[in-house]
Amino acid sequence: AGTFDVTAVRADFPILSESVNGEPLVYLDSAATSQKPRVVLDAERSFLEHENAAVHRGAHTLAAEATERFEDARAAVAAFVGADPDSIVWTSGATCALNLVAYAVGNASLGRGAASAVRLSLGDEIVVTEAEHHANLIPWQELAARTGAVLRHIPVHDDGTLDLDAAAEIIGERTKIVTFSHVSNVLGIINPVAELVALAQRVGALTVLDACQSAPHLPLDLPALGVDLAAFSAHKMLGPYGIGALYGRRDVLEALPPVATGGSMVTTVTLERAEFLPAPQKFEAGTQPVSQAIGWAAAVRYLDALGMPAVHEHERVLERRLREGIRGIAGVRLLGDADADRVALCAFDVDGVHAHDVGQVLDARGIAVRVGHHCAQPLHRRFGVTATVRASASVFTTEAEIDAFLDALSGVRAFFGVGR
Ligand code: PMP
Repeated sequence: AGTFDVTAVRADFPILSESVNGEPLVYLDSAATSQKPRVVLDAERSFLEHENAAVHRGAHTLAAEATERFEDARAAVAAFVGADPDSIVWTSGATCALNLVAYAVGNASLGRGAASAVRLSLGDEIVVTEAEHHANLIPWQELAARTGAVLRHIPVHDDGTLDLDAAAEIIGERTKIVTFSHVSNVLGIINPVAELVALAQRVGALTVLDACQSAPHLPLDLPALGVDLAAFSAHKMLGPYGIGALYGRRDVLEALPPVATGGSMVTTVTLERAEFLPAPQKFEAGTQPVSQAIGWAAAVRYLDALGMPAVHEHERVLERRLREGIRGIAGVRLLGDADADRVALCAFDVDGVHAHDVGQVLDARGIAVRVGHHCAQPLHRRFGVTATVRASASVFTTEAEIDAFLDALSGVRAFFGVGR
């Protein structure tokens, strides 16, 4: 799309000059974890070499500098998702952010926190979808088990889209929480957030969005989407490991009680009790991932400089090429082939060949894909498979790489002597 220069982008990623099995690396596993541009690696290293100190404590110059950089990073990550810095809570990743919400609601249900916090009691309902990553499923199963709430799910159509008619029936008077992924990490389909939020708001339910697979690929404005809470991870969007965020509407964050407690999240502490700081600090007990936050800020600045609309457009071209190419290969079935809005990510099943064997044949050609259930076992069960192959692109993926992948994939069944 005009200004998007993928060759220049590729030069920013040191790992792309690696060879794998004697072939240039074709990295089609960005949905599992993305590669990191040099600016991210440099930002972390430079912070550690020149400014590292404990933040929010200490009167020395370095501590003040480190604190400023740390809070600047929060502002950068917040701005990337259209939010105020105060509505971003650092976590160790999206999994941690989603667990944080589930445990905070659990604590509220035990009478902790502000009176307006979401409280669950026997028979209240939590609504998820059939397409969730385990990280946005199991915390809710556990919360339901602790509170006596009932977990319900919105089913997925054969074409991978959510059954919105069923959603309208399922989300009702008893629904207290509606949670879903913005983009499924298996289907790549962009879910209709506005419709689901409207259904939830009609009954006053809290909405929680798993934005792991949208944040790296789409312009994202969480307040405009109208969700109450959202989770995302740095390592999937060109940033470091070990850090993610929980976005929350201010009033929602204020109403929720903390989960982890300890240093850095308190005002006055006596032997008997403690007063908590306001959000986001209320949720940030202990020493935070400071250099990682700085690396993440570098990642979102990098993406911003490319321009998320341009990134999305670049990846749409890849998405069409990828999905059309896979459709044209005999014996390969896509999971959820709807012509919906999508990101460049798809999972498929190769008739007569196990996903792991497909992965190995591709790997021999230097092509990295993910094989298995991709932490979405219920969705795989729904499509009658236990494992699939997933190819996922990123800002640095080229059309030639998609073609190399399709070429290798088209030879897989013959290689194993099936489908002749
Ligand atoms: N949700 C989705 C949709 C994901 O793809 C992932 C990562 N595979 C997660 C949640 C969990 O993210 P993390 O492992 O970074 O906590």
